[in-house]
Amino acid sequence: MGLYLDNASTTKPAQSVVDAFNRYVSRYANPSATYSTAGMAAKNDINEARKKVASYINACDDEIFFTSGATESNNWAIKGFVSANENCMSFITDIAEHPSVYNIAQYYLDKNELRVAISDVDSYGRFVPQDLEDLLKQAKERDPDDTPLVSVMMANNELGTINDIKALAEITHRYNGTIHVDATQALTHMPIDVDDLDIDMLSASGHKFGCFSGVGFLYVNKRVAIDPLFHGGHQENGMRAGTENYCYIMCMADRLSELSLTEQDRWNRGKELADKYFDITASVCSDNGLKCYCNTLGECLPNIRSITIPGIDASALISFLNDNNITVSAGSACNSGINEPSRVLKAVGLNDDLARNTIRLSIVADAGSDDFDYYRDSLSVFLKMLKN
Ligand code: PMP
Repeated sequence: MGLYLDNASTTKPAQSVVDAFNRYVSRYANPSATYSTAGMAAKNDINEARKKVASYINACDDEIFFTSGATESNNWAIKGFVSANENCMSFITDIAEHPSVYNIAQYYLDKNELRVAISDVDSYGRFVPQDLEDLLKQAKERDPDDTPLVSVMMANNELGTINDIKALAEITHRYNGTIHVDATQALTHMPIDVDDLDIDMLSASGHKFGCFSGVGFLYVNKRVAIDPLFHGGHQENGMRAGTENYCYIMCMADRLSELSLTEQDRWNRGKELADKYFDITASVCSDNGLKCYCNTLGECLPNIRSITIPGIDASALISFLNDNNITVSAGSACNSGINEPSRVLKAVGLNDDLARNTIRLSIVADAGSDDFDYYRDSLSVFLKMLKN
């Protein structure tokens, strides 16, 4: 795969996960087949996996629901909450959200069945707590019985910047609201304690931390009611019917337990690598008479850097690097195929041209992300080629 610097898009499955999969795949009994020894064992395994995931974010076991990933978790949390709570008349989110939240806001706007507020963000890409308070106040003034739903990401997938979730949760609860947090990029890259942060719902996805795509989870605090996602069997406490994705669930839970042992070291190393890649980019640009700056500002994830090189077409650079076996992205993979400059980059003040001059590097420590010389040489060749 060459030099892979696109881990915010997806990560390579860790060797430990592949090994775990090979072990679990032979245990194919249906966890609902509790009349058999193997079925009962599979059910117990899933319960143990639920405990591991819950303990990773300091939740209770019965607050964890396994899903197919964060798009599903986000959709379920938001739509499931709105349909279960008739007093929820407002949905509040912000312009920098992932499409799996942002497009739900658009969907509700189109349907005109819920009051939707999409807040701007500050120049770092963060939902400003005072802006949230103003929107909640307006909702309550319109209807004192309103119990608004707020959805905000913990860390931004394009910028890596982190929202002040504790402050946003405190304000939401002061106005009798409920807060859903999309922690897809944040989980395993920063500490998350749902109890301490006072979060009501949280989404995550396995393929962002060395597990496979197709598995994730939704945390729903016991005090929060949501409607079931699928009706059918009794799986996931009757909330998401369908035979469990046993192998992937087991691998994800094991992966979280494994990662918990080395977190601080990984974060330090990830930051070191990401800073180094930015420094290399800046120095190669400077050698070629170009400016370059980092849009990842303020408190941010250790592993993501959004970098703008004014005057350089990011898609040409990405394609050149790709031809040389280096994978980086522009904005995020979820927006690829859309020829529009990134909504998120525009929200933090970049004009269309600068947004089109921006690449994202996302690194995972100890995943072969450290071929600095090769990156330096390849970038150098590209910029020199453009000059000549
Ligand atoms: N939210 C964020 C912040 C993301 O970065 C992503 C994946 N790019 C998702 C949600 C969707 O995750 P999944 O691919 O698991 O559906």
